[in-house]
Amino acid sequence: MAVTTEREYGLFINGALVEPQSGDVRELKEPATGTALARVAMAAAQDVDRAVEAARAGLAGAWGKTPPTERSRLLHALADAMQANRKELAELEARNVGKAISSVKAELAQGIENFRFYASAIGSISGRSNPLGGSLLFYSLKEPVGVVGQIVPWNYPLMMATWKLAPALAAGCSVVLKPDPATPLTALRLAELATEVGVPEGVVNVIPGDGPTTGAHLVRHPDVDKIAFTGSTQTGGEIMRLCSDPVKRVTLELGGKSPNIVFADANIADAIPSSVWSIYYSAGQSCEARSRILVEKPLYDDFVSQFADKARALKVGDPLDAETQMGSLISTGHRDKLHRFVETGRSEGAEVVTGGEPGAGGGAFYPPTVLANVDNRMVVAQEEIFGPVVTIIPFDDEKDAIRIANDSKYGLMATVWTGDPARGHRLAARIKAGEIGINMPYTAFPGIPFGGYKQSGFGRELGLDTLELYLETKSVLVSTSPKPFNPFGL
Ligand code: NAD
Repeated sequence: MAVTTEREYGLFINGALVEPQSGDVRELKEPATGTALARVAMAAAQDVDRAVEAARAGLAGAWGKTPPTERSRLLHALADAMQANRKELAELEARNVGKAISSVKAELAQGIENFRFYASAIGSISGRSNPLGGSLLFYSLKEPVGVVGQIVPWNYPLMMATWKLAPALAAGCSVVLKPDPATPLTALRLAELATEVGVPEGVVNVIPGDGPTTGAHLVRHPDVDKIAFTGSTQTGGEIMRLCSDPVKRVTLELGGKSPNIVFADANIADAIPSSVWSIYYSAGQSCEARSRILVEKPLYDDFVSQFADKARALKVGDPLDAETQMGSLISTGHRDKLHRFVETGRSEGAEVVTGGEPGAGGGAFYPPTVLANVDNRMVVAQEEIFGPVVTIIPFDDEKDAIRIANDSKYGLMATVWTGDPARGHRLAARIKAGEIGINMPYTAFPGIPFGGYKQSGFGRELGLDTLELYLETKSVLVSTSPKPFNPFGL
């Protein structure tokens, strides 16, 4: 299928694209150019109800009886279908998000591997039998949690959909996925592919819609058993509140303000290009963006100068150009918001070494921006800017580096650059974050648990443990004694 012409997308409910009962159909534009891309149906409350009903029926039907080996085969088939349609998916994602196609291709490759990883991981789902002694026999059963509501953000729409769908389907759950209303196209296409390869109707439903209405209705829905959310910390707090009535399971993958710590003994030839990648990948619109670079004082001036040179050299432009390293932002509104952060940084005393002004023209572009002489207590060092803006902060010694790294409400990721291996491990132990890279920029990988400490959320994705978050454990106790079990002696 070509994606060069505007296409109409319905809601994906019960195995097919359908008209929204809401009657709400919106035109999406490419953020990099402002040209029309697609017309997409948006779900309202009654559409959420339809999707949840379909998911419940799917679970009660064929899917609930599908053995693990068949679920595994279907996940591999979906990975194959993504591979076969990779060009279409990559272009669709790049146009919809404005992201450089080279980045999208890497995310797509990871998305495919996620399905393969969980296709294999299905084999690890098993209960246990404990020796209790006497005549008591205990065993546990693993069962899918049920109908899962999954809510994902706009920054990695396809990859996040795979992070969420793969473990849920492996566990045998059915899903209602709500993408961001601005970036629903690849998740809708993925749902079509799932049905094409044989995932039964109702198991995967995708309903784009607004967060506070459609999303909140999904979260509150009494027939949804679990919510898996990725998005901002502020919304995560609201989701958690909504999950209290009626009570349901919730996992939250939230924001970050991750440190990238460079000691004076580090290999600078490695540290600088990796540090540039760690902030400007996806134009900084990344939860794990290392947006605070902490540099040991003797190296500080030299590091800032070399880093800024590399940042200036990045190729920013057409998302579909294979040479582009940084595409546009998601919208001009987001560009203006992050520019206000840069202005705040200026007023706080930060020095804008490069960038700091929105790009000319109609697209949502912002240049790679470096703020130096930043104090960690400044707003620009504490708040998630979510764009191509890095803050560079000097530190005195190891103790000071750990103090500054942990002086954040977030705790998603950290990177340490040092020539002293023991020091790398000391920092890994002391930094409060879910992922630590030592002398490498760290990247999410199927099989390696991903998630946050503190206000970056809880629950882990991508790992074997993630399956547990989609499974119930049922304990069964049996007496094998020939005598009746009669504790009251009645
Ligand atoms: P957001 O919280 O505004 O929106 C995320 C999703 O939640 C969207 O689908 C939105 O429609 C929905 N939503 C909003 N309000 C809602 C409500 N009241 N009830 C139900 N759903 C609601 O976040 P965003 O701006 O789209 O995404 C960026 C954020 O996501 C950043 O903070 C980033 O760090 C975070 N993120 C985290 C990870 C991770 O794995 N930790 C990954 C990617 C993005």
